[in-house]
Amino acid sequence: MFDYLIVGAGFAGSVIAERLASKANKKVLIIDKRDHIAGNTYDYYNKDGILVHKYGPHIFHTNSKEVYEYLSQFTTWRPYEHRVLGSVDGQLVPIPINLDTINKLYGLNLCADQVEDFFASKAVKIDRIATSEDVVLSKVGKELYEKFFRGYTRKQWDLDPSELDASVTARVPTRTNRDNRYFTDTYQAMPQYGYTQLFRKMLSHPNIKIMLNTDYKEIIKDIPHKTVIFTGPIDSYFDYCYGKLPYRSIEFKFETLDQETFQPTGTVNYPNEHPYTRITEFKYLTGQKHPKTSVVYEYPKAEGDPYYPIPRAENNEIYKKYQLLAATTPNVYFTGRLGTYKYYNMDQVVAQSLTLFKKLVQQAPEIHLNGNGHKKTTLQS
Ligand code: FAD
Ligand code: UDP
Repeated sequence: MFDYLIVGAGFAGSVIAERLASKANKKVLIIDKRDHIAGNTYDYYNKDGILVHKYGPHIFHTNSKEVYEYLSQFTTWRPYEHRVLGSVDGQLVPIPINLDTINKLYGLNLCADQVEDFFASKAVKIDRIATSEDVVLSKVGKELYEKFFRGYTRKQWDLDPSELDASVTARVPTRTNRDNRYFTDTYQAMPQYGYTQLFRKMLSHPNIKIMLNTDYKEIIKDIPHKTVIFTGPIDSYFDYCYGKLPYRSIEFKFETLDQETFQPTGTVNYPNEHPYTRITEFKYLTGQKHPKTSVVYEYPKAEGDPYYPIPRAENNEIYKKYQLLAATTPNVYFTGRLGTYKYYNMDQVVAQSLTLFKKLVQQAPEIHLNGNGHKKTTLQS
C-alpha cells in the first residue's frame, strides 16, 4: 500500500514526493505518462553531445531563499544571468526595454532622467490597468507597444494583449537604466549538471518508486494507495465536466549547427517577423563548451501538449469551478502549473509544493503515547 500516489514527475510532483518520502517517511509512487522524469524541465544530451531542453529553454531564477536552499540539496549551481535581444526595425535591441533600447532604436543619446521623460511623454493615461495592453500602453505608449508586444503576444497566445490579464505582459518590466538582464531575482543560476540530474537526485530515496510511460488512469484502480496528488491538467482529472480549460502549446524545432555560436545572446525574440516567437541557443544557458551549437525555435500552437494556462477572466471562471470540485474531492490534492491552472515559473511551483507538504503534514494524524503506553491519535490544528 502506498501512502501517496503522485501523478506527474515534474517539479510539482517531485518536490512533494521528496518531502513526503524523506521528511514524513511516507511510501510514495510517482507516475508519469512520459518516458522521463523532470516534466517540462527535462534536459538531455542530443546526438551531437549538446545539453538541450526538450520542452524549451528553462532558466532558473527566484527571490526565495527557501526555494533556492531547498533545491541546493540536489544540485550545485552555475551562476547565469539571462539576456534577451529583440529583433525590431532591423536591429537587435535589449528586452526588457531599457535606456539602451531607446537610444539604439531611435539613434538618441538620452540619459536615465531623459528616458523617463521620454516614456512619460509617450505613455497613455489609463485609470484602471486591467489587461496586458493597458500595462504596456500605460508605461511606454502605443509605438513601443506595437514594436515589442503586440505581435509577439498575438503569436504566443493567439489573442490580442487587450484580451489577456495584465499579469502576462507585466512579467516583462520597463527600465530607465542600462540593466539588460531578463530577470533581476536575487538567485539566478542553472543546475550545474542539468535539471534531469537534479531530479534524479531528488527522487533517489528508498521510499520513492517511479513508474514512467504510464497514464495514471491505466493503473489507479489496481494500485492500493491512500492519497492522490495530481499535477496534470485539473480539467482532465475531472473528465472535463465543466468544459476544457484552454492551454497554449508550442512546437519546438531544434537545430544543431556546425559553428561555435549562432546568435549574440541566449535568446533572441522576434516580435514581428517569422511564425516563431524566439530562438534560444543552449550553450549560453548551460555554459557548455562544444565546437557545434544547438538552438531551439518556438512555434506557438493551439493543439499539442498543454504548456501555458491562458490567464484571462473567462478561463479563471472555469478553473474556479474545478477548484471548488477539487476542494470537495476527498484524498486528492492538486498542485503545479497544470494542476492549479496558474502561469507559474519553476520556483513558484516548487514553493507551492513545499507549502502543500506543510499542509499535509499538519493534517496528518500525530501519534502520541498516553501515560499508560497506549497510542492516542490526534489531529493537529
Ligand atoms: P510539468 O513539468 O508539466 O509536469 C507535469 C507532469 O505531469 C508532466 O510530466 C506530464 O507528463 C505529467 N502528466 C500529466 N497528465 C498525466 C497523466 N494523466 N498521467 C501521468 N502523468 C501525467 N519556468 C521558469 O522558472 N523559468 C523558465 O525559463 C521557464 N521557461 C519555460 C519555457 C517554456 C516553453 C515552458 C512551457 C515553461 C517554462 N517555464 C519556466 C515554466 C516551467 O516549465 C513550469 O513552471 C514547471 O515546469 C511546472 O512544473 P509542473 O510539475 O507543475 O508541471
Ligand atoms: N512579451 C512580448 N514581447 C517580448 C517578450 C514578452 O510581447 O519580447 C509578452 C508576451 O505576451 C509573452 C509575455 O510577455 O507571452 C511573457 O513573456 P515571458 O518571456 O515571461 O514568457 P515565457 O518565458 O513564460 O514564455
